[in-house]
Amino acid sequence: MSLTAGGVLAKSTRSGLRIGGMTQTSKPAVLVTGGAGYIGAHTAKALAERGFTPVVYDSLVSGFREAVHWGPFVHGDIRDRVALAEAIETHHVKAAIHFAGLIEVGRSVARPDLFWDVNVGGTTTLLTTLREHGVGRLVFSSSAAVYGQGGRGPLETIGETAEKAPASPYGDTKLAAEWLIQAQCRAYGLSAVALRYFNAAGADPSGMIGEGHEPETHLIPLAIAAALGDGKPLTVFGKDFDTPDGTCLRDYVHVADLADAHVAALERELADGAFEAVNLGAGEGKSVLEVIDAVGAALDRDVPKIVGARRAGDPASLVANPARAAALLGWTPRRSSLARIVEDALRWERAPKYGVGLRGASARRGSLTGP
Ligand code: UDP
Repeated sequence: MSLTAGGVLAKSTRSGLRIGGMTQTSKPAVLVTGGAGYIGAHTAKALAERGFTPVVYDSLVSGFREAVHWGPFVHGDIRDRVALAEAIETHHVKAAIHFAGLIEVGRSVARPDLFWDVNVGGTTTLLTTLREHGVGRLVFSSSAAVYGQGGRGPLETIGETAEKAPASPYGDTKLAAEWLIQAQCRAYGLSAVALRYFNAAGADPSGMIGEGHEPETHLIPLAIAAALGDGKPLTVFGKDFDTPDGTCLRDYVHVADLADAHVAALERELADGAFEAVNLGAGEGKSVLEVIDAVGAALDRDVPKIVGARRAGDPASLVANPARAAALLGWTPRRSSLARIVEDALRWERAPKYGVGLRGASARRGSLTGP
């Protein structure tokens, strides 16, 4: 299938919607692997709002059935070629957004074999199945973990051509999956965009969907839990980094902004065989202590904390240069101030619509309802 119809950044038109510059009649179906997960569910919502039908394909190993609202749901493993093929055929899929995979950096150090099997093996299976069904457009969920620290100074922002030095097997698998996708683009004309997320955070303002990991390891939900739970302190992982306050710098970007970028990548005109890698970040580094302060300010109370050892695989800083996302996708984050991210995260943490992990554990430990 050619996706090379002319045009600039595609928009919905009177006659239909566009994928890769090609106009489609009524509600084209987009396979969203991992669409019951955190960023996947927000992207499914953004797709539906733009008139696409998101076909969520998810194993529910870490996703939530309660997060699927905006299109059909197919229960399946990303390595299951038969189930993937059936989903594509049944729902007349025209393009894919691929989130399904394992994400816990620490676990990847202990189980690299599993991460390569699911993240790289799963991507191989998906690519084969897309090829067999003539699906010519893919958006891939990649990560700033492909960069690691490399030879970069802690205050340098990261452009897409920066050195790739993943600090964990997780980062290795994301980079390997990108290579595989790029090779498939060259081999048969697939066009693809790899979106390298910096720190996804926040929740949809509707309160319908939000973050839910088991176990929860991310800073913002853990800081909220520390403030609103039973006083168990948050551990700051290292205060001896070469950064202004000694704690790690990260680029926090609102999950709803990330979701919008996926729709823009799907709609972007690209030549057959094109592969693009794009950073998604706000372009501003916030330290762990700054994030903790923002949570404390939003709650008007202290976040109990202790300083502990560094966490394995944590680079001192990961801050995007987001210029390419603006140039290629017309995307700039609109909701990614720390205050807005924390406000939306807090709304979700107080009233989650599904969930285990943090909320389950927190509910057992104490209340997430006040102040
Ligand atoms: N962090 C921390 N304590 C925690 C969780 C995270 O100090 O309990 C730090 C972590 O070392 C990193 C930053 O917060 O510098 C963001 O971590 P997170 O796990 O949220 O995202 P990551 O950067 O690993 O994708």
